[in-house]
Amino acid sequence: MMSGNPITLQGKIIITGVLQAMTGLRIGGAGAGMEIGGVDNIVIRDPITGRPYVPGSSLKGKMRSLLTRALGKPLKNLVERPLLIRIHWCETESEYFKNGKPCPLCRAFGVAGQRAFEPVRLIVRDGHLLEELEILDENGQPVRKRWTEVNTDLPYTEVKWEAAIDVLTAAANPRPMERVPPGARFRVELLFSVYDADDREAFRTVLQGMRLLEDDYLGSSGSRGYGRVAFRELQAVWKSTAHYLDPQAHPPVLLMEGKTPEELLANFDNLTSRIPAFGGRTG
Ligand SMILES: [Zn+2]
Repeated sequence: MMSGNPITLQGKIIITGVLQAMTGLRIGGAGAGMEIGGVDNIVIRDPITGRPYVPGSSLKGKMRSLLTRALGKPLKNLVERPLLIRIHWCETESEYFKNGKPCPLCRAFGVAGQRAFEPVRLIVRDGHLLEELEILDENGQPVRKRWTEVNTDLPYTEVKWEAAIDVLTAAANPRPMERVPPGARFRVELLFSVYDADDREAFRTVLQGMRLLEDDYLGSSGSRGYGRVAFRELQAVWKSTAHYLDPQAHPPVLLMEGKTPEELLANFDNLTSRIPAFGGRTG
């Protein structure tokens, strides 16, 4: 655990599944607004495919921010100008290993721009848009449609006219705003490296961060209802280091599938019981 000891990768927990937009989603791209028909707040797109995507850094950053507040971690100023950005990171090794246990948040998510005490455990891949979105039929039942079967204003996105209203004169200034429509589904992947038994708590924070995100928002305009997301059809797989060295002799272990973050958390003991590095029980 402490520095100086050899650190050996025991394996990886790989969580895959779907991130579904439950309301319109706005994750902004570079300020190319005026080039695309004067639309404000352009949605970030993959430059090759032209499809909107969810950057892994956005997902990870939002989860970290929500966890910081939920766990009551002390804040530090990351940047002061032009905007004050406060986040939590452990600055010293004694802060990181307080009471002999690593800070689960910094262990999982890393210590931004600072000296790392250990390898960062969590990798969040970019979420790529799936071929089908989920919309409600005339009976209010969810149905899957291909993007080619629905009408969107721009490829894969809608343009909503929204008014900024002057407080004094009530003059409205409607502007077109781009958003990914509700029902869009993204394939997500989170990889968690396991080195020792204390990673069990760090892994728990990752699931807690996913759960917190579902009752918050991703992207911008959250206070206006945008960015509500839900994780669906989550699958957790354990790949031991032996698997990477000899996949045939050590196949991946399916831990759980078809779950939500809440279900993974509710079954956390069972979920983690087959990971030898977490110390314990088998079966
Ligand atoms: Zn910390």
